[in-house]
Amino acid sequence: MAMFPSQLLLSSKHLKEQILQPLFEPLSVELFVPFGFDTDKFGTFCGTTPRIEGPRQTVKEKCLAGMAHANQRQGLASEGSFGPHPASPFLNVNEEWLVYIDLDQNLEIYGHSVSMDLCHQQLDFRSLQLTDFLTSIQFGVQGLVLKDANNGEVIAKGLTKEEELLPLLQKHPKWVLETDLRAHMNPKRQQTIAAVGQDLIRRMQSSCPNCAAPDFSVVERSGQLLCAWCKQATNTHAYLNYRCAHCQHQTIEKRKDLLAEDPQYCPHCNP
Ligand SMILES: [Zn+2]
Ligand SMILES: [Zn+2]
Repeated sequence: MAMFPSQLLLSSKHLKEQILQPLFEPLSVELFVPFGFDTDKFGTFCGTTPRIEGPRQTVKEKCLAGMAHANQRQGLASEGSFGPHPASPFLNVNEEWLVYIDLDQNLEIYGHSVSMDLCHQQLDFRSLQLTDFLTSIQFGVQGLVLKDANNGEVIAKGLTKEEELLPLLQKHPKWVLETDLRAHMNPKRQQTIAAVGQDLIRRMQSSCPNCAAPDFSVVERSGQLLCAWCKQATNTHAYLNYRCAHCQHQTIEKRKDLLAEDPQYCPHCNP
């Protein structure tokens, strides 16, 4: 089985190592962050450095840059984004990527998680709902970014105390408040980061039955489950297709979590 090194570089800041370390602990892996490495040049959430590449490319470049900076042959890097759901643009999602690169074993493994349970909200000076807003976002554990409504300029980040926030709002009467999306300021995002860590470790531990390379994972879903009532084909997938990125070995497995589809999702029973 593929193994992580016992000391593993994580190119990240905002205390992501505190979220990920407990997951790596049982594998006897100790994460460390590169000293003096600025990840902000790969893009920031409050819009001061735009992110040019897609998140998968960004996380790879960040990882390789961190490894070069810390003179390591192995490394992890993480990258998150907030935006519309790829299939349902009206839903907002938090997407997280975590890549593991190992130059010695020639590995590049991507963990991925998507969550719709997120804290990504905004309020401006025209609203009379400040108190409700602060309660609903759990201000205190969830941090805020204060911007100037006229030019969008960031006035303060990481606000977590009312005694800091309220005088700033008085001083800048045309304010905009946004939930701080950085990991250490956003508890909902911390859950998505933990999920991406679990996904990466699971991929690392699922090895190809043919060549033993890691990341033998589902790449496609196929087939049609039958309806539990009318026994006709539905649009729900019945099989999981696994493929090895290393030797292209494939297996197709019948899914075990669902044996027949509920008639309410059947195009014949419930058109
Ligand atoms: Zn293989
Ligand atoms: Zn049916």
